[in-house]
Amino acid sequence: MIDFNIPPYVGTEEKYIQEAIQNRKLCGDGMFTKRCSQWMEETLCVRHALLTTSCTHALEMAAILTGVKEGDEVIMPSYTFVSTANAFVQRGASIVFTDIRPDTMNLDERLLEDAITPRTRAIVLVHYAGVACDMDPILKIARRHGLQVVEDAAQAIAADYKGKALGTIGDYGCLSFHETKNLTMGEGGALLFQKDEALEPAEIIREKGTNRSKFFRGQIDKYTWVDYGSSYLPSELNAAYLWGQFMESQKIQQDRMDTWNFYHQAFQDLEQAGYVNRPVIPSYAKHNAHMYYLKVADLETRTRFLSYMKEQGILAVFHYIPLHSSSAGRKFGRFFGEDKYTTRESERLVRLPLYYGIGQENREKIAKAVQSFFVDRIKS
Ligand SMILES: *Cc1c(COP(=O)(O)O)cnc(C)c1O
Repeated sequence: MIDFNIPPYVGTEEKYIQEAIQNRKLCGDGMFTKRCSQWMEETLCVRHALLTTSCTHALEMAAILTGVKEGDEVIMPSYTFVSTANAFVQRGASIVFTDIRPDTMNLDERLLEDAITPRTRAIVLVHYAGVACDMDPILKIARRHGLQVVEDAAQAIAADYKGKALGTIGDYGCLSFHETKNLTMGEGGALLFQKDEALEPAEIIREKGTNRSKFFRGQIDKYTWVDYGSSYLPSELNAAYLWGQFMESQKIQQDRMDTWNFYHQAFQDLEQAGYVNRPVIPSYAKHNAHMYYLKVADLETRTRFLSYMKEQGILAVFHYIPLHSSSAGRKFGRFFGEDKYTTRESERLVRLPLYYGIGQENREKIAKAVQSFFVDRIKS
């Protein structure tokens, strides 16, 4: 069976974890946490990168930092993971789901301005599959209406928009290092931001509402409870695994890109024959090969396709059920305007196995299985 995902492993992780153990420092904010933060700050060109226990938690921190409260509205796509919405629901906000663009599956910036009401406080974007939202028009609208912009860049490490790393463009950006993402620490994430004024409040939220980070830097002589907070700082053991991944990130990303390009080439003919749509990468975006998906004709075709692939020993999967159609989505939010693409496009989408080290043999086997599904259809 070809798995849908196998967590990336480069071989140096144990060595770094052992080092963390020998340092006798296992809780957060040790050497590996600092190294990882610095690497992100330098590589992604962002003033501040705080390692967190997950992207879900980075989103929660961002929601607190935006000051969103009871009665406020937050605009986001319905086609996303539950954490994007939960972080703001937890603050008492009501969610306004907007439709997506069918080409990138990202929030449609042309609908944004009409979805804004006097209660709107923030826009939350998702860079689906590591492909950028069209940031310039979105930022222009946000500025005009005094709204904050949070980027859910969970899938988007090292992808960019016009040369700027995703997650570093809005007010706050959130990365994920879950084992299903390009680079991992098992469970983990990061909060990114450019504003220096946000550093102290962010550190306080991450450290249980205390100014402990300041204390560790020797800026104060004892630490105390100063504001609301939680425990969002990951252990050094996890950070050590991530450090191994960061050091080999070029190799990991290149291998994923080779797989992505192989699939893209392999399915060109199927697209031309009208059987599938391949992903679209707008000229402003440089993606990170996080995901390779195809869109088939409809839900019924997808169901047959997935079971056909399984029979061939290949685990292909679908993705998000739009949040506005879930019971929590109906309770905590509303869909703005017409659902022209969200439901329809999400029902057509299938993701193919894509992981570091998948190998040429598997790539070819997968491509052949996909082609045979459609070719057999043509014959019958
Ligand atoms: C993976 C993912 C998350 C959640 O990340 P965790 O690190 O598992 O909390 C949130 N949003 C999107 C778009 C994701 O793909």
